[in-house]
Amino acid sequence: MYRTHTCGELNLTFKGSNVTLSGWIHKSRDLGGMTFIDLRDRYGITQLVFNMETDSKLCEKARKLGREFVIQASGKVEERSNKNPKIQTGDIEIIVSELKVISKSELPPFTIDDDTDGGEELRMKYRYLDLRRAPVKNNILLRHRVAREVRKYMDAQGFVEIETPVLMKSTPEGARDFVVPSRLQPGTFYALPQSPQTFKQLLMVSGFDKYFQLVKCFRDEDLRADRQPEFTQIDCEMSFVEQNDVLLTFEGLAKNIFSVIKGIEFKEPFLRLSYQDAMNSYGSDKPDLRFGMIINELTSLVKGKNFVVFDSSDYIGAICADGCSEYSRKQLDELTEFVKRPQIGAKGLVYVKYGTDGTLKSSADKFYSQEQLAQWANVTGAKPGDLLLLLAGDRKNTLTALSELRLEMARRLGLRDPGKFAPLWVVDFPLLDWDEEAKRYYAMHHPFTSPKLEDLQMMETEPGKVRANAYDLVVNGVEIGGGSIRIHDSAVQKLMFKVLGFTEEEAEFQFGFLLNAFKYGAPPHGGIALGFDRLVALLGGQDSIRDFIAFPKNNSGRDVMIDTPAPISDQQLDELMLNIRKDKNK
Ligand code: ASP
Repeated sequence: MYRTHTCGELNLTFKGSNVTLSGWIHKSRDLGGMTFIDLRDRYGITQLVFNMETDSKLCEKARKLGREFVIQASGKVEERSNKNPKIQTGDIEIIVSELKVISKSELPPFTIDDDTDGGEELRMKYRYLDLRRAPVKNNILLRHRVAREVRKYMDAQGFVEIETPVLMKSTPEGARDFVVPSRLQPGTFYALPQSPQTFKQLLMVSGFDKYFQLVKCFRDEDLRADRQPEFTQIDCEMSFVEQNDVLLTFEGLAKNIFSVIKGIEFKEPFLRLSYQDAMNSYGSDKPDLRFGMIINELTSLVKGKNFVVFDSSDYIGAICADGCSEYSRKQLDELTEFVKRPQIGAKGLVYVKYGTDGTLKSSADKFYSQEQLAQWANVTGAKPGDLLLLLAGDRKNTLTALSELRLEMARRLGLRDPGKFAPLWVVDFPLLDWDEEAKRYYAMHHPFTSPKLEDLQMMETEPGKVRANAYDLVVNGVEIGGGSIRIHDSAVQKLMFKVLGFTEEEAEFQFGFLLNAFKYGAPPHGGIALGFDRLVALLGGQDSIRDFIAFPKNNSGRDVMIDTPAPISDQQLDELMLNIRKDKNK
């Protein structure tokens, strides 16, 4: 037997018992007469004690052991004189009488501790060691708990978990596919699913009624901190439902997870905000509602007063930062620099300081009287002590820039508390998105998303105005999931493909199997997919999903531990009848 207990479970109730533990040497301290070893396993850390006076041979042996050796130690549980309230087992220690080295360790490339000296790349190369560190390990355990709760809830609601193929055909989520060459049919390729979208709709045609799956999805996109080429979705679909049914079901799931995992009860229904309102008030379709700082439009109020910056702009908007009227020149310069960054793209920043004495001081003082500035303050709800920040330009880009500025101010003011959660639904998304470069419409969600029936008559005349039965679940400025009610009427689906510029042949080639299935009795259906990695990261209070995935890829999509993607052998290429182009690096 390797162990009688784990390193996380012993306490004073075990005082006097003889126990055997196995684990890794986390740290050891040699104090001359005594040697202490912190022994670690998945469950915790327990202190082992070796005494020179009582057993010098054993103590000498213990002294020679290095960090991360795997050992087995037996001995008696004793009360510690110097208790450590920070760890579960901090009241006790083991007076060791037998010690066995199970496996030696080389010196690890970085310190395996909560705070490590290992940089990101090194941690990823030795991810199996990184996973020994409590913060990363706890993230993976959290992931497991969330997955278990999801399955429990979905099962209780009558959902059936059904697996769908990984080797499939291109799906319409709009990203680039990862492809897999077929050996048996050379020259043809599978695509890895960007999501199981078409399969889950087929399962509704099959009559399964309520489907879900914790499923890997693959998208060959340029990566950001919160993106991975393969990621996990909680993918769901339901039949005979309208939008409200879907929202209530998954609001229930979200509330249940917050309750079980975080002990947070959301008694009220989640706010539902239309896409248009979200854009107008927050400049974003994923607003962070942990704080207010709503965007107010001032266009008609500020134009026509000879201030060229405003007069030449289509849109002028403002946010009000509470209690910031004392911002210094330097702080305002920093904010100006912030909005002028190429990613944000504003030309400049206009401010109004609403002093605690009631005076208004603006960088555009020359053009506006105190009364006029007071009007701005009135519209934006600013009070003495506040700071108004205005941006101007074209409507879309200025709203986006204001959204970034709003988040930056909230960050500076400490309003983005990771322990606070503000969920909402964003609804009534536009069905289509105009691509100026390609001069064509794209489906904002995907081509199976149902237009709102009342907007259907604009499909061919003013497609840009058609709203969809599509929704996103947003928490703390992060899109946690999105979905839609689907088109189940072949005529509407055909019209959708037409507006998207597909010829009948193209639609048939890509999605013929689905269109065919709809000929055999398609129930009204709709669903959603929640980003599982992102949900877990949010619950873990972090921005990046990487440390919530056991073996993630880096920013260039590489797994630096197993060193992939990697070339394949000539024999494999031959079997697949593939040639690699000589100019591959161009
Ligand atoms: N398949 C969609 C996605 O991955 C979600 C859905 O419409 O259910 O975004």
